[in-house]
Amino acid sequence: MDRRKFLIGAGLGLIAASSPISLSALGSATKKVSKPGRMKLSFMPYELQLRHAFNLAKFSRTTTPDVQVQIELDGVVGYGEASMPPYLGESVESVCNFLSKVDLSQFADPFRMEEILRYVDGIAPGNRAAKASVDIALHDLLGKIMGQPWYKIWGLSPEKAPCTSFTIGIDKADVVRQKVLEAEPYKVLKVKMGLDNDKELVEIIRSMTDRPICVDANQGWSDKHKALEMIEWLYDKNCLFVEQPMPKEMLDETAWLRERSNLPIIADEAFQRIGDIKRFHGVYDGINIKLMKSTGLHEAYQMVVLARALDMKIMVGCMTETSCAVTAAAQISPLVDWADLDGNLLIANDRFDGLKIVSGQVTLPDRPGIGVKLL
Ligand code: MG
Repeated sequence: MDRRKFLIGAGLGLIAASSPISLSALGSATKKVSKPGRMKLSFMPYELQLRHAFNLAKFSRTTTPDVQVQIELDGVVGYGEASMPPYLGESVESVCNFLSKVDLSQFADPFRMEEILRYVDGIAPGNRAAKASVDIALHDLLGKIMGQPWYKIWGLSPEKAPCTSFTIGIDKADVVRQKVLEAEPYKVLKVKMGLDNDKELVEIIRSMTDRPICVDANQGWSDKHKALEMIEWLYDKNCLFVEQPMPKEMLDETAWLRERSNLPIIADEAFQRIGDIKRFHGVYDGINIKLMKSTGLHEAYQMVVLARALDMKIMVGCMTETSCAVTAAAQISPLVDWADLDGNLLIANDRFDGLKIVSGQVTLPDRPGIGVKLL
């Protein structure tokens, strides 16, 4: 049991508790009247320590702010998490502030997920990671009450989960070589691009392995002609697709690029919530779903359904996160084309045991809920 301080959410005010409160331990009065308990939300800041400095086209960092969340009902605990890479605009303070307003004790039936998550979404605009943390913990709680993992509740075949890519960040040549060696178990390598030495990075990888790569430019190419030239070059390098080649505001240029590109163009930074999909049809070939953008699993599943109906490609990704949110995202992975679920492998202080990567493939634990266990 993690003994760090959890904060109890709304209804009780912001109270520091030395350990999460067990509702079953609150006395026998509840049992005597045989009434079900009420959900109780608690949370604590938890800074993620990165194994390697994370270098992207626009910034570099060694930690990621994160808040760990749990929802407890009658002694059953559901775990959730909010991870806040700086570009998302959320912080530990904003997440804790949002979560302190969430009062789940007003809901007598935890299975009214639609109603509960609509309430959470309506508390304030934005705050997507904070909302995701509640959604993930609620899914974990409900799955545990039902005694089944979510991929089974959704009727999915776990062997259809794709291989995950492993990220090789922008770095010096010797560090890139070291990372490629570390990535040996993975069948697909993800290459971060968007700086001047993009081709050099791919050449180093290609000198070591012919495994397929996917490229994430993180909005780094602002000239559509240069972007097209790079995509044509990548096409000959066994590249599967290119993620967010141009700045997210450049929709017309991205549509121009997509018409000419022989590699699929996937929206990441440009794509947040389900309402974005209709704007992107014809601009991008596909979407990168991440729980910290989608406000959690409930909307992520709806995104998959809508994108499929529009014949769009789907990848499921993650931020740097513990195995909690990454394993939650993996529950929908049997439905997607590509997975980029290595965020938990990039941190040194995971709190959970969860999904495994076996021969490169996302392998879901047969545990109820989102499938994680506290370490
Ligand atoms: Mg990306």
